[in-house]
Amino acid sequence: MQPVVVAIDGPAGAGKSTIAKALARDLGIAYLDTGAMYRGVTFAVLRKGLAATDVDAVGRIAQTVLFDQTTETLHVDNVDATAAIRTPEVDAAVSHIAANSVVRDEMRLRQRQWIADHHGGVVEGRDIGSVVFPDATLKVYLVATPLVRAERRVAQHGGDVVEIARAIAERDERDSTRADSPLRQTPDAVVVDTSNRSVDQIVADIRALLTLRLKSS
Ligand code: C5P
Repeated sequence: MQPVVVAIDGPAGAGKSTIAKALARDLGIAYLDTGAMYRGVTFAVLRKGLAATDVDAVGRIAQTVLFDQTTETLHVDNVDATAAIRTPEVDAAVSHIAANSVVRDEMRLRQRQWIADHHGGVVEGRDIGSVVFPDATLKVYLVATPLVRAERRVAQHGGDVVEIARAIAERDERDSTRADSPLRQTPDAVVVDTSNRSVDQIVADIRALLTLRLKSS
């Protein structure tokens, strides 16, 4: 039997991490945050004082960077970068780094290998259902209103809601319009609006969808 892969995609602040983690726990399978990987490359690039626009050097960093990733933590080249990958500096630079095709090719390889090593899992990102795992068992595309998304980020990391909403919109625009594997909803993805529902309700719905999918396959 093919390993179960659940792809969870969507824009920033749509609730991907919360839902994907809770679902993986519920199903007893692995969880992979691919956004943390792009953030990890960005952290390594900034740490070396390189510019995000230096395409070749950034590509080389992506190909050689060492990650040690768990559900809650990320070590980059043996440095604990768990908190550092969530700073406004990384937020501002990550979508530039993620538009680099050498970076994307390398991350894609690592994500597929990770899922093979873990015999499936819940994978969250932007291009998981569209490019990384086009044959995923179930594809979910999470959405939420811009205000809800900004308020969630403020609750997690503080800051001014108007400024955060503007930064999120800019990042979404870059992620949706890049040439290589842009953020998009595939026709076979189930769209779930997380704005006004509890995590438990959403996880139960996704679990029911997955059960149906597995029965019919
Ligand atoms: O999910 P998160 O907000 O942590 O992702 C950070 C950034 O990483 C995104 O804004 C996007 O630029 C990039 N990313 C991506 N493809 C993925 C996951 C994240 O391009 N699969």
